[in-house]
Amino acid sequence: MKPIRYIPFLHTHSQLKKEILATFEEFYDDKDYILGSGLEQFEKAYALYNGVKHGIGVGNGHDALFIILKCLGIGTGDEVIFPAHTFMATALSVINSGARPVLADIDPNTLNIDPLEVEQKITSKTKAIIGVHLYGNPSDINTLLAISRRHEIHLIEDNAQAQGAVVGEQKTGSFGVMNFTSFYPTKNIGALGDGGLITTNSDELAEKARILRNYGKGAHGNYSNIGINSRLDELQARILLVKLNYLDRWNEERIKIAKRYDSELKKISEIKLQQDYNKSMNVRHIFPVITARRDHLKIFLKSKGIETLIHYPNPIHLQPAFSLLNHKSGDFPIAEKVCKQELSLPIYPGLTKSEVDFVCATIKDFFSNQS
Ligand SMILES: *Cc1c(COP(=O)(O)O)cnc(C)c1O
Repeated sequence: MKPIRYIPFLHTHSQLKKEILATFEEFYDDKDYILGSGLEQFEKAYALYNGVKHGIGVGNGHDALFIILKCLGIGTGDEVIFPAHTFMATALSVINSGARPVLADIDPNTLNIDPLEVEQKITSKTKAIIGVHLYGNPSDINTLLAISRRHEIHLIEDNAQAQGAVVGEQKTGSFGVMNFTSFYPTKNIGALGDGGLITTNSDELAEKARILRNYGKGAHGNYSNIGINSRLDELQARILLVKLNYLDRWNEERIKIAKRYDSELKKISEIKLQQDYNKSMNVRHIFPVITARRDHLKIFLKSKGIETLIHYPNPIHLQPAFSLLNHKSGDFPIAEKVCKQELSLPIYPGLTKSEVDFVCATIKDFFSNQS
């Protein structure tokens, strides 16, 4: 068996090379490099795909959330609740907006924010809850929505890892007042560089986001707001427009691979797998296994040519940069445990059945030889 790399776009980028190079030539000749027609087309196409009225392309996922918080008037003196287990960008946007991050521990089965924890963290200063659909698995979004309505606070979805995921009949990224995704190259749909997008059904908030991403420049050329420079790059938008046509197919492949992993690995008692919610579709951005022998398993798999990753090795509240939050080890026990025990198995379009079977057989080998 050839080494199995963890490169999510390994196969898709070989398949799309011709199509994308043709797109580049067109882009080059059109000379429409900033806020061009490709960006406008992609924003419309993604909004349609996501089932929302507006898509606003921005520089990256971090800036998307930063702009959302500005649009909603959230900043200094306000509190924003989000899961203790997420990618750093979620936390940084909140800090950079001036608001205070308030963490809530996660559910040990779904690995997403625990709504009961959210309710306990709400104060008179709470302005928003961010639901992160981690690893492609939709959060308990209807419960989060009910909590946000009951307390009259905003719900924002971090859909960076769950493009195309569904709850009931509705895609994630369409439940909150404003939501966002990221097109970091490894996401289910990724650019060849950085990119991000805000989704919303509000005409007014969409307009505000468009102004803020472009220096704060309003319709008549006046600078009406203190904005930033964070526009989704025209070249990336055109590439993403091509890739959007394949997203559903790629997600189906991921789901198929995950089903195979699930059915083989659930037999191993030392391993715990992520659980989905009822009536939701997990688009399997990452396939996490939780095991107390994570570090040894990782080394063993590497010795057999299987590359794995860890998402994420250190919890947010224990990062040196977040010492201002005054948290200590033990404050979010489930998030801390997942950081110590999570291992991400290779999962991406083009990974073959025999590769998946080899990963499963190697994991079984590890546990049967060492127990
Ligand atoms: C990728 C990601 C982001 C945004 O990342 P950028 O690199 O800023 O585009 C935000 N939240 C989560 C959960 C992510 O995985």
